[in-house]
Amino acid sequence: MDPLQRPGDLVPETPGDLSIRALWRHGRPAERAWVLGGWLATILACIGLGLATVREGWSGIPVDLGGANAFLTFYPPIPLCLWWTLTMGWRWGAVPAWLATFVLALDAHLAPLWAAVFACANPLGLGVLALGYRAVGAPRGLRSLRAWLFFVPLCFVAAVFSSAGALIWNFSHDLAAERQLPIWQGWWLGAFLQSALLGGPLMALTWPRLSRWILARPALFTPPPSGRRAMGLGLLFVIVLAVLGYGLVSLGLGSLQLRAALASQDWSRLEEASRLMLSTAWVFFWVFTLIVLFVAQFGYQALSRWLRSTEALVAQLARVNAELEQRSRTDGLTGLANRMATEEGLRALLRTVRRYRTPSALLMLDIDHFKQVNDRHGHAAGDAVIRALAEVLKSSSRDVDLPGRVGGEEFVVGLAHTDLPGARRFTERLRERVAASPVTVDGNAIAYTVSIGVTLLRQDDAAIEDPLRRADAAMYRAKQGGRNRVELDAGDAGKA
Ligand code: GH3
Ligand code: MG
Ligand code: MG
Repeated sequence: MDPLQRPGDLVPETPGDLSIRALWRHGRPAERAWVLGGWLATILACIGLGLATVREGWSGIPVDLGGANAFLTFYPPIPLCLWWTLTMGWRWGAVPAWLATFVLALDAHLAPLWAAVFACANPLGLGVLALGYRAVGAPRGLRSLRAWLFFVPLCFVAAVFSSAGALIWNFSHDLAAERQLPIWQGWWLGAFLQSALLGGPLMALTWPRLSRWILARPALFTPPPSGRRAMGLGLLFVIVLAVLGYGLVSLGLGSLQLRAALASQDWSRLEEASRLMLSTAWVFFWVFTLIVLFVAQFGYQALSRWLRSTEALVAQLARVNAELEQRSRTDGLTGLANRMATEEGLRALLRTVRRYRTPSALLMLDIDHFKQVNDRHGHAAGDAVIRALAEVLKSSSRDVDLPGRVGGEEFVVGLAHTDLPGARRFTERLRERVAASPVTVDGNAIAYTVSIGVTLLRQDDAAIEDPLRRADAAMYRAKQGGRNRVELDAGDAGKA
């Protein structure tokens, strides 16, 4: 494990949900008791606190937000359900949220059908929250600025969605204009502030321990979701919808109130409504700012994630290309340069000979009576002999030399900056070394020899085929002369 990585970071950022079935089947008794007990306690607490909100009048409390009049609803189930949603999954938060609002609505004598619809508002907001984390996968530990920059605006979007409930409430209660805005504003502002200021710290406090548990018990969780591109688009759509809906409702309700006040011709009501409209306009501005920042941030994160994955892809492609290129130049059996790469190297060597007039030599080797090795010891033993010869060539050559396998048991070596006497010494030594190094296969020592033809690269060689032909002819003479021999090219032999 990377020591710099905190345990919390190892939990996949895109959450999978706690599966109730997996918890039942694979959970330890203590886990079942804690999770299910905690959840039941949460449900009861949410119902009780929801009822308290209505009975104690925690709804639409006027507050002074730095000069702007605003309304706040204190509804404690919100941070609790947010915690369950972000840690265990949407269903775990949505059920207590729905039940709490449903009971509260029945208690307020809302018709059961209306109450059931009304109760969907908070689960809707929690769904936006869950969607956001699924789509973007920001850290849920809320211990970095990046995490908070994602969390806070998402809380706003979720709060606007959940505040649809206020509209249902207003409509079903047929409320007067001046009572509608406080309820709606109280709802979204309250939900937003409680999510951010209570739910956020709750997550930050509990996440380190919780994430260790999640990490240790992957079997209890559904795998992280796929299809994040579609979810990202869905999230953007939801955000746009929230901003438009928010603007429409806040200006609509404000205007409704202003119009009613104008119609009443009551100066004090008009003054009150104007002040409210002013505050609403300013709150609208700040909300708008928040959302623009959020979308910019969200876009930046998406873009940098995309760039990172593209860069990683390009790097991987380059690696694979380099590997393929390397493979296409290498002989699979021996690891030496293959025919193509050898010829390329020899071409370069010939160019240096032409330009700098330095001598260079070319060797061609062929294993003697190799068919007999195959016949007596088998093809695998033949391969072992070929590999052994390649090792001898590698270890005998300098960096600047070019050993390569050009045929079945035929090899060439290009010797850079080597004159004929030097090439001859090298070749003799090589031949002796091969003859003195039998290859042991399955306990059998297989002795083998090579015949070698040597030639110099000439400045008037038109192409490497010319010296290759000369070396081949010299090698043929070595075979003719009894094998296990070195022969110089006839033209060079006189100079040696
Ligand atoms: P000479 O001394 O005249 O070279 O006799 P030789 O038997 O070596 O004759 P030649 O060079 O024509 O034989 C090449 C043989 O090498 C033919 C083929 O069966 C064998 N051979 C070619 N490539 C491979 C290989 O990759 N592995 C093995 N085991 N054998 C190979
Ligand atoms: Mg051969
Ligand atoms: Mg041979």
